[in-house]
Amino acid sequence: MKAFGGGDLLHADRSLAGVALTPYQCISYALDRPGVASVFTGAHSLEELQMNLVYAEATDAAKDYATALATFPRMRWKGHCMYCGHCAPCPSGIDVALVTKLLNLGLAQENVPETVREHYASLEHKAGECLQCGSCEERCPFEVAAMQNMEQAARLFED
Ligand code: SF4
Ligand code: SF4
Repeated sequence: MKAFGGGDLLHADRSLAGVALTPYQCISYALDRPGVASVFTGAHSLEELQMNLVYAEATDAAKDYATALATFPRMRWKGHCMYCGHCAPCPSGIDVALVTKLLNLGLAQENVPETVREHYASLEHKAGECLQCGSCEERCPFEVAAMQNMEQAARLFED
């Protein structure tokens, strides 16, 4: 719910961030949050509803919210993973965004939930394969300590 912040996020003058996002960017951001599988969107008109429905066919470039978020003047995003995937590709094939999401889901609870542990176990390439090459960090618009996160994920899920 509230993927558009009641519509405020779509307007620079109403958004707390002072920057307008597109509906696709808002939906994509909401769907990338840990544990979110679906998003309810509101619509004032048939036209708005149709625009939301074609999200499924939108290009990755149209859905990319990371660049817009990085320009938000009134918020600090540094160091916070947005699960945007801009750090890809990893030479070891690690899905850094997904591993980081699972790491944060695991750390949010006292004990790592079984579903999270199983999801991690099903990954083709795990954090322990990180070469510490640093290329993901160079590409991250939010200056996330991705290499440190890979080390932490390996400790949490693989030890
Ligand atoms: S580490 Fe950076 S680039 Fe990669 S998913 Fe997180 S925020 Fe995006
Ligand atoms: S530092 Fe590790 S996770 Fe990042 S691109 Fe290199 S091998 Fe992949």
